Amino acid sequence: MTASVGSLAIPAGRKACFVGSTRYRRRAYGANHPLAIPRVALTLDLIEAYGAITPVERLEARVAADFELEWFHDREYVAAIRRAEVLGRVKQTYRERYQLGTLENPFFDQMFTTPATATGASIQAAEQVIAGRIAFNPAGGMHHARPGRAQGFCYFNDPVLGIMRLRRAGWRVLYVDIDAHHCDGVEAAFRNDADTLTLSLHMDTDYAYPSHGGRLTDCGSAESGYATVNVPLPRALTDGEYLLVFESVWPRVLDRFRPDAIVLQAGTDMLAGDPLGKWRCTTQTFLAVAERIVESAPRHADGTPRLLVTGGGGYHPLLVARAWTGLWAALSGRAISTAIPDRGAEVLRRVGWDQDEEEAFTESLIHSRLDERVNGTIRDDVREIALRVLQHPLLR
Ligand SMILES: [Zn+2]
Repeated sequence: MTASVGSLAIPAGRKACFVGSTRYRRRAYGANHPLAIPRVALTLDLIEAYGAITPVERLEARVAADFELEWFHDREYVAAIRRAEVLGRVKQTYRERYQLGTLENPFFDQMFTTPATATGASIQAAEQVIAGRIAFNPAGGMHHARPGRAQGFCYFNDPVLGIMRLRRAGWRVLYVDIDAHHCDGVEAAFRNDADTLTLSLHMDTDYAYPSHGGRLTDCGSAESGYATVNVPLPRALTDGEYLLVFESVWPRVLDRFRPDAIVLQAGTDMLAGDPLGKWRCTTQTFLAVAERIVESAPRHADGTPRLLVTGGGGYHPLLVARAWTGLWAALSGRAISTAIPDRGAEVLRRVGWDQDEEEAFTESLIHSRLDERVNGTIRDDVREIALRVLQHPLLR
């Protein structure tokens, strides 16, 4: 079924597209922001170094139209961001009202057009999924944005708009968020939609951003149809612990909800070494989870998974590029070598990122020292969470 590197044949049942833009080669977010790092462009460069993408698989992202942004966002808020881009600064009144131009959500050149492009790309990706392809928008996954407020580095909530596009096709949507932070903006958007279920595995908000919510007991209500499954997890989570919890909840969610399509937010801040993450998971686990989701997704008649994948958090550029390259390989049905080709190593070295000497970032696509992490003991509180989540009213 799968092609090896070099042949570039796309296997039957894996028609995939990568929605990108040359725009992502520009630095965004200004200086000293965790997102002022190369991510999408670096990922694409690494994928190209592998020879793992063809021209037909590449799609140029379009800027979302205002009317599309307004499916979810307040008209005044959309206008305020556009105005900031034109003015070259954020007005003081907007700063307070919309949380724009702050340290968290800074002013930057093209602060409307760049996020509106990442958002247009998620809507486009949804249309590609409806038309029969798997779609990957690595610039998307801005899961914290609110209808009238920027939050957590997120200006427009592209996962919400991508899901809304799928809902307009009449599909039931399962949104699964493996970013290490709770998807508060997406959860709130669909709290009352029984045909959209959000599933989030995240760092407990007792010790991580955002400062509240995402609790095991936050699952919606009987009236609204229990649209939320939350799995808050402790610090220093290991591969074995993550996989135990994921394998406990995933088959049950699929069986009980029976979605028509899946939207996966694939932030990489679960990975050991992420500057904002507090877990110890490896790229191996990230990819194992992604592959599990691909293989169990609902399918079109020709076997193509109905799957929209976005990026998300991830603040170590080399970890991000490695993980999303492996993810793209899984989505497009390619078996690629974990040994990074010379040209890819050069692409990664050029970033000039301070490297952890224990990790061979430019040599291998995956973490070293896997065995130690996978075979580590599983803590009792994690076992308890894996059992308790199955007491959710939808999953019992
Ligand atoms: Zn995150």
